[in-house]
Amino acid sequence: MIININSIKQNTSKIWLFFLDLIFPIECLGCGREGFWLCGDCFKEVKLKPRQYCLHCKKENDFGQFCPPPARPNGFGRSGGCRVIYSLDGVFIAALYDELLISRAIKSLKYHFISGLADDLGKLLILFVDKMLEQAKVVRPGLAAGLDRRIFEQAKNMPATILNFSDNLVIPVPLSNKRLRWRGFNQAELLARKVAENYGLALDASNLIRTKHKKPQAKLDEIHRLENIKDCFFWQGSNLNKKNVILIDDVVTTGATLNECAKVLRAAGAGEVFGLVVAKG
Ligand SMILES: [Zn+2]
Ligand SMILES: [Zn+2]
Repeated sequence: MIININSIKQNTSKIWLFFLDLIFPIECLGCGREGFWLCGDCFKEVKLKPRQYCLHCKKENDFGQFCPPPARPNGFGRSGGCRVIYSLDGVFIAALYDELLISRAIKSLKYHFISGLADDLGKLLILFVDKMLEQAKVVRPGLAAGLDRRIFEQAKNMPATILNFSDNLVIPVPLSNKRLRWRGFNQAELLARKVAENYGLALDASNLIRTKHKKPQAKLDEIHRLENIKDCFFWQGSNLNKKNVILIDDVVTTGATLNECAKVLRAAGAGEVFGLVVAKG
């Protein structure tokens, strides 16, 4: 039997919390220091992903967009037009899963029910977004002044999601009710709340619904992932009126889950839809 420590902790009195902390002490996942899930020193060691890429063909770019459609109809190459296959515009990936601390933190958050780690991983997402927005800031004044060909080229490739960051709607990838009951919280929602709060963005954590509880995606290959996730989501909110959406999840693998969410959001009137995740699994 799996004991959900987090939900026990949330539902018990202070005196019981004291005993639970004795049995399950809080220790840094990196160095074992007590009182932190991820201490300041270890957090500083986590490296952000230096470059983004098209999730489909892995060609590097600035903002994780899928490769745009080729200019000429016969221009399809290995790394051309990946975007046409997806409903999603791209995925921002904050860190590398092969960093031991990142994979440990994500696993502890999801499978050991340590919701406190969402604070640290949320902080990491914010550091990463700050860095992307820093790039946008270089471009914006140039645009206003209407100068410089280099800045113009940069701005042309910059998603509106980044350029007009404060207009985004943040939506966490939902869990099914069954999985939510099992875990006691949706890790993607905890991360989304952190990000939305930090930047003062609108958050909708209730209108994107996951209908079916299927097999966990982690156990399936790419073809079966697509089949497993198909038609699992629906949107019960009002029309999104071209609003750009940042979809938040802990990990992306093939992008099948994010893409299914994006398909539903686009049908509901969303503009750009980008994923924002802690790492690529
Ligand atoms: Zn540490
Ligand atoms: Zn591509």
